[in-house]
Amino acid sequence: MKFDWLIVGAGFTGAVLAERIASQLDQKVLVVDVRDHIGGNAYDYYDEHGVLVHKYGPHIFHTNSRKVWDYLSQFTEWRPYHHRVLASVEGKLVPVPFNLNSLYALFPPKYAERLEEKLICTYGFGVKVPILRLREAEDKELRFLADYIYKNIFYGYTLKQWELKPEELDPSVTGRVPVYISRDDRYFQDTYQGMPKHGYTVMFQRMLAHKNIKVLLNTDFREVENEVHFNRMIYTGPIDAFFDYTYGPLPYRSLRFEFEYKTLARFQKVGQVNYPSEHNYTRITEFKHLTGQKHHGTTVAIEYPQAHIPGKTIPYYPIPKEENRILYELYKKETQNLGRRVFFAGRLADYKYYNMDQAVGRALMLFGEISKL
Ligand code: FAD
Ligand code: UDP
Repeated sequence: MKFDWLIVGAGFTGAVLAERIASQLDQKVLVVDVRDHIGGNAYDYYDEHGVLVHKYGPHIFHTNSRKVWDYLSQFTEWRPYHHRVLASVEGKLVPVPFNLNSLYALFPPKYAERLEEKLICTYGFGVKVPILRLREAEDKELRFLADYIYKNIFYGYTLKQWELKPEELDPSVTGRVPVYISRDDRYFQDTYQGMPKHGYTVMFQRMLAHKNIKVLLNTDFREVENEVHFNRMIYTGPIDAFFDYTYGPLPYRSLRFEFEYKTLARFQKVGQVNYPSEHNYTRITEFKHLTGQKHHGTTVAIEYPQAHIPGKTIPYYPIPKEENRILYELYKKETQNLGRRVFFAGRLADYKYYNMDQAVGRALMLFGEISKL
C-alpha cells in the first residue's frame, strides 16, 4: 500500500497532523503507534468498575489560544471544568497555586492581612509571582513568606518529582505554578478550559476517522519503515531514540501510577490533592471531579515519580535544564541531515515540556509549513 505520509505516534501531535493532511491536503496517511491504543498520553478508558480514567495521569485541557480551542471543538463538545488543587501543608489543605486564600488559611488573620498588604503593594493585585522571584523580595517579611512557601509547597514536591531542587531546574518549571496574588482558587486562568465531553479517546477517534487515514497499533515504526511505501515521515516519539541514542540518552522523568477504586461516591474535596512534604507520591487525582461522571464508586490515581530507564519505563517528562537543552540541540542538528523527508514535532521529539494545547499549536504550525511543500 502506498502512503504520502508515515506518522509515528497517535498522540495529539500525530493525530492533529494526520487529520489536517488527510482532510486539507487530501493525502494518504499511515499512523503507527507502538501502544495498543490511540491518544498518546491523553488516552482515557473505562476501568473495570466503569469509571472513566486517564491511563497516563490526569489531563485537564486549558488554553488561551482561540485557534487551538476552535480546532479541537470540531471533534468534541466540552464539559466546562475548572481544575482546583489543594496541597497538604502542616496538616491543612490549602489552595495551590498559593494565593491569598492559602495565606489566610495558614497564618493568623492579623499577620496574613499585613502580608497581603505587602504583596499587593510590592507586586500588585492579580499578579502572578514565580516562587524563585518572590524569594528575592527586599522586604524581610515577604522573604519569610517566600521561604515558607518554598519549603512547604515546592521543595519536597520538586525533589520527589524531579530528584532536583527547584533552583536546579529551568525557572519555567516552578513558574508554571506561581504565587497568585488573588482570591481565585483555580489552577489555571486560561480563557478556554474544559474536558472533552465524551473523553479524549472519543475525540481522537473522531479526528482519525477519515478515509485517507489508516491507523496501525502495536507497531514500532522500525517494523514498517522498510515495508510500506511513503514519501515523507512525521516523527513524534523521543528524538534520542530516533537517532539510536548517538549522543547518549536525553534525560526524562518517569512516573508510576497506582489506581485505586473506592466504594465511595467521593474520595476528596477537589480533583487533585498534592502532598509536597509527606509520602513518596506527589499527588492524588480523583477522576470523577474532572469528568463529571455519575457513579456510585470512584477511582483515584496516586502518582509516584521515578527515574526513567530507556526501553523500560515511559519517558513522561523532558527535564528542562540547560545541559539537557544543549544535548537536545545535538540531536536537532542531526535532523537537518534528513532534509525535508522527516519532520519532528511533539513533546518527545521537540524535547519540550508542552501542555496539550501547545502540542496542538505546534502541530498546526508544522502543518502550515507542510502545506507549502
Ligand atoms: P505523546 O502523547 O507522548 O504521543 C507520542 C506517541 O508516540 C505515543 O503514543 C507513543 O507510544 C508513540 N511512539 C513513540 N515512539 C514510537 C515508535 N518508535 N513507534 C511507534 N510509536 C511510537 N497537558 C495538559 O495540557 N494538561 C494536563 O493536565 C496534562 N497533564 C499531564 C500529566 C502527565 C502525567 C503527563 C506526562 C503529561 C501531561 N500533559 C498535560 C501533557 C500532555 O500529555 C502532552 O502535551 C501531550 O500528550 C503531547 O502529545 P504528543 O503527541 O506530543 O506526545
Ligand atoms: N510544584 C510544586 N508543588 C506543587 C505543585 C507544583 O513544587 O504543589 C512544582 C513542581 O516542580 C512541579 C512543577 O511545579 O513539577 C509544575 O507543576 P505542574 O502541576 O504544572 O506539573 P504537571 O501537571 O505538568 O506534572
